[in-house]
This record gives sequence, structure tokens and C-alpha cells, in this order.
Amino acid sequence: MGTVVSTKRNEIIVAKEVLPMEEVGSGEVNGEIEEETGEESFPALEHGYNFDFFVIGGGSGGLAAAIQAAKYGKKVGLADFVTATPSGTSWGLGGTCVNVGCIPKKLMHQAALIGQVLEDSTHFGWSCSEEALSHDWNRMVEKIKAHIQSLNWGYRVSLQKAEVEYFNALARFEDEHTLHLVDKNEKEVAKITSEIFLIAVGGRPRYLDGVLGGNPGEFCITSDDIFSLAYHPGKVVIIGGSYIALETAGFLCGIGIDVTVMVRSQLLRGFDQQLAEKIGVILEKHGVQMLRNCSPTEITSVEQGNPGKLIVYGVNSETGETMEEPCNTVILAVGRAPSVGGLNLGEIGVEVDPTSGKIVVNDSEQTQVEHVYALGDCAEGRLELTPVAIQAGVLLAKRLFGGGNLRMDYDKIATTVFTPLEYSCVGLSEEEALEKFGGDENIEVYHVTSQPLEFTLPARDKESCYSKLICVKNEEERIVGFHYLGPNAGEICQGFALAIKLNVKKGDLDETVGIHPTCAEQFTTMHVTKRSGDSWVKTGC
Ligand code: FAD
Ligand code: NDP
Repeated sequence: MGTVVSTKRNEIIVAKEVLPMEEVGSGEVNGEIEEETGEESFPALEHGYNFDFFVIGGGSGGLAAAIQAAKYGKKVGLADFVTATPSGTSWGLGGTCVNVGCIPKKLMHQAALIGQVLEDSTHFGWSCSEEALSHDWNRMVEKIKAHIQSLNWGYRVSLQKAEVEYFNALARFEDEHTLHLVDKNEKEVAKITSEIFLIAVGGRPRYLDGVLGGNPGEFCITSDDIFSLAYHPGKVVIIGGSYIALETAGFLCGIGIDVTVMVRSQLLRGFDQQLAEKIGVILEKHGVQMLRNCSPTEITSVEQGNPGKLIVYGVNSETGETMEEPCNTVILAVGRAPSVGGLNLGEIGVEVDPTSGKIVVNDSEQTQVEHVYALGDCAEGRLELTPVAIQAGVLLAKRLFGGGNLRMDYDKIATTVFTPLEYSCVGLSEEEALEKFGGDENIEVYHVTSQPLEFTLPARDKESCYSKLICVKNEEERIVGFHYLGPNAGEICQGFALAIKLNVKKGDLDETVGIHPTCAEQFTTMHVTKRSGDSWVKTGC
């Protein structure tokens, strides 16, 4: 970002220079992209503002919307800025998914899966030396970082190609059409006006301030730090019981790290609880220690270092028993808070939900202020998933500028929890279906437990894989819930998600010929209902 040399009313002139590495965030590389130099102005457009569309946040949703809007010849700007974590971690353009979410998470999950394959390989005739089974944390982190940097760079190039004006700056509303853009030294680098704004600022991990004494950020890290941690974390305690806690436990354990998870209530709130409990059992079988019904009360540092030595104190809510768990690294995975605090939203009349802190929007992603939209993780009531933010962003830009009228359908969105055995689902949990359709007599649940063929020789995860279909009885067994726990769950569920969205019925699956020998084929042959009480263990071919 350059320096503002003029801010006449509705006209902005910015002196642009080649960005030094530190100005573009630690994750970004400054290389082949042709940086504009000299002065550039953003004259007022016909409507009197500098931009037609200005996006705050260069993550999944913001980038998708900005690039789509630019395709219609609109003057589009985008500001993205990453505030460093308490331990100093920062990253480049692309938002949570690319830098500290889906991408590094899936790569670390893959590292863990490779470890399993190496272990299993002797059962298939391979000889595997001890050395082949050792894992180098730093090598993994360096390779992942390099990949992420290439993605950061890819986004810079995409913005430039689309002629979206990119500002590596923190945005704050001055009034409902004007934004201040400041750099990491809090120096104003630009002040722009736009006809329409999109807020897609995502969220950041919570730190349990006020729950634990002192300053938890001093001792604890979060998912924002773990993927680029420059040293082996040693023994890890993870606090939380949802997606991030369980996925992180899974991949850390899978690469040989001693992991304890402290869960205060249920696992994976909102998911089918039968499946959630199965994931807990599998994690334990894989070596994760689970402390159930346990809340943290204090964390103390015994020794500083990389890693240091810490003690996590907790209390069991059922027995009142206290416990202490020595470790080297504490990862807080206790939910995320929307990054809306510094935007000055109150001043411009954008309503924020008092409980969640998220921006209140209607079904067109519009806030109370007509020309200000919000989507992705910072918008109230939206699933916090990358493809959700992307789809909402693309559809919004099409509606605003491309003559489109399609609204985002937030129903029946598939998701996967990338634990050692992956869990994918779409539609309702059994609990939700029971409530929605008025009890057990109105739904039929089909289920089967099986062992994937590839697990048979190493005798791994016997009877751990599980498939469940939830059908509405008086609607010709329309399938309203699809659940699968097993290898490649995300890949398997994606296709079925389409079928569920198109209101597939159990009979349609029965008529579908399976692909043999796969795990997915069992969805075409399921015949045991829960109600029958018959064995749901699959035997034979
Ligand atoms: P973000 O991607 O968070 O982007 C917001 C951007 O805005 C950030 O770069 C932020 O720094 C910037 N910003 C904030 N405030 C300002 C400001 N005032 N000015 C300028 N810029 C600002 N989803 C999946 O679908 N699959 C997964 O496997 C998955 N795994 C995940 C694993 C982890 C560990 C985490 C944390 C999340 C995961 N998610 C996953 C969720 C997914 O990453 C998010 O739902 C998605 O990134 C949200 O996109 P967004 O555009 O709303 O926000
Ligand atoms: P969630 O909000 O889903 O879960 C927070 C967890 O922290 C819950 O288990 C909660 O327990 C626990 N918790 C909250 N406060 C405390 C406390 N004071 N003490 C102890 N435990 C506490 O957050 P996540 O961070 O796991 O995930 C955020 C979102 O990111 C997800 O909803 C998901 O959409 C997205 N994501 C998607 C992934 C994927 O697609 N694979 C992977 C990772 C994240 P309780 O249930 O008792 O409230």
C-alpha cells in the first residue's frame, strides 16, 4: 500500500510503491507481480464515490465477491489486514481458510494419515524402518508454509488480474460511505468512499479472557498459531470439544504427539451425538486422552521456552474432582469471535447481535444499512465454512451487478470433520429429525457398521466405520439426514449431498448400483433399521 498524497472530497490519490515483505504480512512473498509505482488516483465515479463496491476482508467470502463483481466492469476495492496473535503470528492474503484453517489443517491431517499408511504398510508386504516412521515437525511446517505463501501470492495475482484495487490495511468506517484504511503502525494509508460495501471480516479464536485468570494469550496458543509453530509443541493439552479441538487432536496424535483434550460438555455440539461419541471413542483408540466434563480453571507457566512447561488445572463438573495436567503447549479451541469490533458499526447503524457479536443480515446478506452487506463467518446465523462464504459472495456480486436473482440457500450444506476417521454429514442429526418430525414413529433410521477393505489386513479400526440414513416415513422415506464415519468421508459425502439436496428417497438409493469394493457402496444396500434391533454389523463382501 502506498501513502496518501491527496484526499480531496471523493477523490483519493495514493502513491504506490513496491511493497516490502513486512508490509504485505508475514505470509506473502513479494516477487513476480508487477507492482504499480508512482501516483494513482481514484477519481469520483458517476455516483460520486471512488468505488462501486468495496470489500472489507480478503478471505474466502471477500475475495470471491470482489473478483466476481470486477467481472462486470465495476470499480472494486478490497482491504485485508491480519492482526498478529498474542504470540506474534501473522499471515498473508486469503483469510482463515488458506492461512490458519482448512488448508494447513487438511495438510496436517494428511501427514497423520500417511503415518497410518506407513504403519499399515508392513501388513501389505512392505518393510518399514523405524526411521521411516519418525516425523519431523519443522519439515512439515516449512513445507506447509511454502505452499500457503504460494496461495497468498496467487490471490494477489488474481486481484491484480481482475483489476481489484488491493489495500493491505485495516478498515474502519468513518461514515456509511467512507472508510479509513490504516497500516500496521496505525498510520492512515487511504480514505476511500464507495457506493456499496461488503463486510467479510471473518472471526478469530476466543482466548477465555475473563474465564481463566490472568492473560491466557500469554501462555496459550490457538489454531492461529499451531500451523506455523516454529518448534515441536511437545505434550499438548487442547481445551474445547468441537471441530477445531477434535481435528487438531487427531492430526497431532497422528504424527506422534501426546495429546489430551479437555471437554467441558458434549462433543461436537449440533452434530448427531451418536456419531460425535463414536469420534470420541476413535480418538481415544488412536491414543488421545479425553478428559470429559472437565472445565479449565487456571493455567500456570512453570518454565518458559519453546516449548515451555505449563500446568492446566481443571474441575470435573459431575464429581467436583479437581485435576492438573502438566504439558508443554496449551491450545485453546473454545470458539471464534467475529472480527467486527474495530469497524465502528454502531456509528453507521449496522446492527450486531448482542449474544454472538455477529452482524445481523437478511436473506440477501443485507444489513440494516441498505448499501452495506455482510457474509461469511461474521454474519449472524451462517455456517462457518469456506464454501458457504464463497458461494454467498459470488451470488451477492451476481445479484448486485450481474442481473442475478439467486439467493444463497443455506439449507442442507454438507460438512466434514477431519478426525482420524473422517465424519461427513448433510442434513439433520437424529436428534433434530426426531424433534422436527414429531418423534420416533415418524422417521426411519437405517444404519450399518463396517470395516473398510483396506483396514482388514492391519486389523485397524474394526467396526468403527458407521453409516446412517435418516428418512421421513410418510414422505416415501425421503432422506433428511446422511451421516458417514470412515475414510475419505468428505469425498464420499459430496456426491450424496447433491442427491439429498434434490430430495432423494431411500428407494432411489436402493435402485442405485454400488461401486465395489468401496465404502460408499453401503449406502446403496442399507436394509437394517435401528427400530428392528437387528445386527447392523456388515459381514461378508
Ligand atoms: P475469513 O476467511 O476469516 O477472512 C476475513 C479476512 O478479513 C481476514 O483476512 C481478516 O484478517 C480480515 N479482516 C478482519 N477485519 C478486518 C478489517 N477491519 N479490515 C481489513 N481486513 C480485516 N471451513 C471449511 O469449509 N472446511 C474446513 O475444513 C475448515 N477448517 C477450518 C479449520 C480451522 C482451524 C478454522 C479456524 C476454520 C476452518 N474452516 C473450515 C472455516 C473457514 O476457514 C471459514 O469459515 C472461512 O475462512 C470464512 O471466510 P470469511 O471470508 O468469512 O472470513
Ligand atoms: P465451536 O464454537 O464449534 O466450539 C467451541 C467449543 O469450545 C465447544 O466444544 C464449547 O463447548 C467449547 N467451549 C466454549 N467455551 C468454553 C469454556 N469456557 N471452557 C471450555 N470449553 C469451552 O468452535 P470451533 O472453534 O471448534 O469451530 C469454529 C467453527 O469453525 C466451526 O463451527 C466450523 O464451522 C468451523 N470449522 C470448520 C471445520 C471443518 O469444516 N472441518 C474445521 C474447523 C472449524 P460447549 O459445547 O460446551 O459450548
